[in-house]
Amino acid sequence: MAVEVLVLKEGARGEKRVAATPETVKKLLAAGAQVQVESGAGLGAGITDQAYLDAGAALAGPGARASADLVLCVQAPTADAIDGLKRGATLVGVLHPQADEARAAAIQAQGLHAFPLERLPRTTRAQAMDVLSSQAGMAGYKAVLIAAQLAPRFFPMLTTAAGTIRPSKVLIVGAGVAGLQGIATARRLGAQVEGFDVRPETREQIESLGGKFLDLGVSAAGEGGYARQLTDEERAEQQRRLAEHLRGIDVVVCTAAVPGRPAPKIITAAMVAGMKQGSVIVDLAAETGGNCELTRPGESYEHDGVTIAGPLDLASMGAVHASEMYARNVYNFVALFLKDGALSVDWNDELLAKTVWPQREPAA
Ligand code: NAD
Repeated sequence: MAVEVLVLKEGARGEKRVAATPETVKKLLAAGAQVQVESGAGLGAGITDQAYLDAGAALAGPGARASADLVLCVQAPTADAIDGLKRGATLVGVLHPQADEARAAAIQAQGLHAFPLERLPRTTRAQAMDVLSSQAGMAGYKAVLIAAQLAPRFFPMLTTAAGTIRPSKVLIVGAGVAGLQGIATARRLGAQVEGFDVRPETREQIESLGGKFLDLGVSAAGEGGYARQLTDEERAEQQRRLAEHLRGIDVVVCTAAVPGRPAPKIITAAMVAGMKQGSVIVDLAAETGGNCELTRPGESYEHDGVTIAGPLDLASMGAVHASEMYARNVYNFVALFLKDGALSVDWNDELLAKTVWPQREPAA
């Protein structure tokens, strides 16, 4: 019997993405799987049930969750939904198992092979499967567009009969995948863009996108290409210089993160108080608490003349392209263990061994 793959209709509020597209359905079929898609799964991303049928998938019947061998999703299903999956099934998605005790317990109780894609090692071979990168790109892009929308000014310099308009000064905090996309997007809109990060190698990346590197005198490269947490002294120095600089900035887009930790608090209430009237802060890090002390996740409000937005679901706002990329990432990952219509996991493959949760004990 060929492996049964099920593409879930996402249940989380505001989630419009989907874990497979007609393109990846065809690839899964070519790898020998049977594919079922829950009705309406693709609608948020503009994909109709008919488009999946045309690609060769079937629409999932009522028993599909209880019989599927491989379940694909974007966000983790609820604990109840996990209880309804087949024992020992394989589940692939951005699962964050530790973020919810009931979910973690359900995954373990059902004996699932869960592959939370956020755990994927970020090696060169894994790039085509890297959902954090593909989704962060969309998030950085949308965050800048939201900032442009909220700002009571133009981004570009304009020379008009009514005089010359100075370009907006945009600061991007954190120059990882989202931040770099933010810099590129703000530049395309014509703003004067600066970026900073604690990883020194970002200077060249920021400059290559036409941004200026803002040197706050702190360098904190950590392991695996990520940042490490700053010491108290480093943080104080970064903050002193940043507070001064923010007085001249029109728009701040925050993207700084340290894996597995709440977002670093970089912009204090006192710094916001020093910003110009009409300034805007868009905090993409809102999902993990925000880089700005005053961020209210999911809200946009005005504080002493400064608009502070903490949008959630940024990647979902670009659901068509975010799903296209996500679905390709998922397919590329699944292709590591779906061969000739069967699931066969090679635990010597570090991409599988390091991604699976709960973590496997190393072989004796
Ligand atoms: P992330 O989302 O964890 O963090 C975003 C950025 O915030 C990072 O650049 C980090 O240095 C920065 N940051 C953390 N604390 C900060 C602070 N106090 N002040 C200012 N900035 C701070 O990171 P990410 O975007 O997912 O990626 C991080 C790095 O990993 C990037 O260099 C990226 O290019 C690299 N990466 C490599 C691969 C690969 O080789 N396969 C794949 C993806 C990402």
